[in-house]
Amino acid sequence: MLKFAELIFGASLLLLLAGCATTPREETGPPPAEITVTNAVVVPPKPVVIRPVLPPATNNSSDVHINLPPKITRPAPILTWTSLNNWAVRHKLSPPRKVASSPITAYAIGSPKGVMTLIIGSREATWNGVGIHLGYAPEVIDNQLFVYGLDLQKNLEPLLVNEPLTFGTNRVVVIDPGHGGINGGTISVLDKRPEKDFTLDCARRLKPLLEASGWQVFLTHTNDVDVALSNRVTFAEMHHASLFISLHFNSAAPSHRESGLETYCLTPVGLPSTLTRGNPDFLFQSFPNNDSDEANIQLAMRLHTAVLRASGEEDRGVRRARFMGVLHGQRRPAVLIEGGFLSNPSEAQHIENADFRQKIAEAIASVLR
Ligand SMILES: [Zn+2]
Repeated sequence: MLKFAELIFGASLLLLLAGCATTPREETGPPPAEITVTNAVVVPPKPVVIRPVLPPATNNSSDVHINLPPKITRPAPILTWTSLNNWAVRHKLSPPRKVASSPITAYAIGSPKGVMTLIIGSREATWNGVGIHLGYAPEVIDNQLFVYGLDLQKNLEPLLVNEPLTFGTNRVVVIDPGHGGINGGTISVLDKRPEKDFTLDCARRLKPLLEASGWQVFLTHTNDVDVALSNRVTFAEMHHASLFISLHFNSAAPSHRESGLETYCLTPVGLPSTLTRGNPDFLFQSFPNNDSDEANIQLAMRLHTAVLRASGEEDRGVRRARFMGVLHGQRRPAVLIEGGFLSNPSEAQHIENADFRQKIAEAIASVLR
């Protein structure tokens, strides 16, 4: 695990590669938000707005069934930049304090629940020393720290302010071993063993651990078969799952250098993703799983922290993606864990070791007690 100082020093050096079977590249996101100061009002970035296409108007309404877009019940996103000092006052927290000024400038803001450290000009932040990727980089304007409103609402508030996620009485979890059958995922650089072998083994190890904590556990597949991504979502729906966790291992092939743990959840409406793998990333596209934004980040952060501590892997942070088919259709908190790089010889050696996979399973289970 990287210490925070190493994380922030490494931030600018990080080759932003991630993913399973391809050579994916993390997006650098939109250009830095255009910020102008007029009476301390900061102009937010100009996001891409996707407007619903309405059917043409007609006078013959008794004969024509018009499919109006569904009524949006979610609160309107906060699209302004906000002074973190003002936000802290509003939430009865101490103001942020500067914790580093060279070579990077960083601020920390704390609550009884933990400490968020923000780096000026960087989308990489930390929560209790563990990486989390923001939508937009915080900025200092007139000696005041400004954070984008949606980052406050979707990243800071769920962790610093709001009540933590509890698992209630419907303890039904779907574990999704990534890949299967003809879709083997990536391969180990050591011996070409497919990712699907390691994800299925990890899921099988996790099942009894969760059952011992009173969970009803369903695996999207228990044998080496290919299950369509949409069917994995339907499977969770059929079983009335209250949580969904997808297990994967990563690749940056042909590079052997990339290593570490990444944990993904769905990007909130209005923020750019950390990873797109070349897919469109429409900022205002909304998915069923956006109803779980708050629980997603709380669950992702806890799972990521536990697996990081158990595995000793490098911390590549909790990240956001929109394109992941197993996540965005879920009507329950849903997280995807990339438990290390099979393209890195040293990490592949760990992943191929059953004890390491057991550690990952135990770490995940420890969160769901
Ligand atoms: Zn995968």
